[in-house]
Amino acid sequence: MTPDEAETTRMRLTATQAQRLCELGADPLVLDGVFADAPTRDTAFKQLEDGLVRDGRQRLQEMRTLGRAPQLVELETCLRTALSGAGFVQVITPLIITTDALAKMGIERGHPLREQVFWLEDGRCLRPMLAPNLYTLLRRLGRIWSRPFGIFEVGPCFRRDSKGARHLNEFTMLNLVELGRSAEECRARLEELAALVMNAAGVHDYDLVRTESEVYGEMVDVEVKGAEVCSAGRGPHPLDGNWGIVEPWVGLGFGLERLIMAREGYPNIERAGRSLSYVNGVRLNI
Ligand code: ATP
Ligand code: MG
Repeated sequence: MTPDEAETTRMRLTATQAQRLCELGADPLVLDGVFADAPTRDTAFKQLEDGLVRDGRQRLQEMRTLGRAPQLVELETCLRTALSGAGFVQVITPLIITTDALAKMGIERGHPLREQVFWLEDGRCLRPMLAPNLYTLLRRLGRIWSRPFGIFEVGPCFRRDSKGARHLNEFTMLNLVELGRSAEECRARLEELAALVMNAAGVHDYDLVRTESEVYGEMVDVEVKGAEVCSAGRGPHPLDGNWGIVEPWVGLGFGLERLIMAREGYPNIERAGRSLSYVNGVRLNI
């Protein structure tokens, strides 16, 4: 057999086999495997599948025996501990917000994010971001607290994002914001706070990338292997006047499911989010 003939007879996993291994959480490199013939391939597939099923069952068992919380909950706990330790105060605000609040964020007719909003009746919607509520609390707490002070919220946000490997309709955002440092301090603080969160999330390899956002103007994104996990910005900003904020601020918004994806090397965000097909990243049809 010539090398060319050998190449054409080499077998890859079938689409169904690859899909199954992918769902079970196989390393993407495994899906590229080539085999001498169909029986060899099928035996290898079975072994891989059995191994992944065993791992999945063991992880589910750990939830029972060790009382482990879902990854999303564990991550929230780690982030809360790290941020409270750094002096940030946790807040929880409503999931339902008004159209007016979105307009005050510059998200009006024609804005791309407007198309992604889940609308309710009476000019209300499910929040697509935490920033409007945090702006309101910053102003109100700012009347009471000395500077600098920081607050954060972790909670669900909703967007009609086109379905894909990195977007969910409902996801969990961490937004932290600090008010009352000098503009110069805020610049350095952004990097410090990004490091604090990434460290607490257990993701150590990341890049800070400067971008432009429709809502905030100049922004810094935190990326892991080119995938955005956070967008961050600094004030003063033209939107601040809508909220009665007149001091410098620094704010960062992280997607928790994206952080879990990055940490665990998941190829698909569904494994990290609220799901009926996965529990704690384990596919249930095992
Ligand atoms: P992308 O460009 O990836 O769609 P974005 O820039 O629109 O994200 P931001 O508004 O900057 O998102 O939101 C802050 C963070 O929230 C993002 O960095 C990401 O981690 C997370 N996030 C945003 N939309 C989604 C989504 N639909 N599903 C999961 N996470 C999301
Ligand atoms: Mg962004």
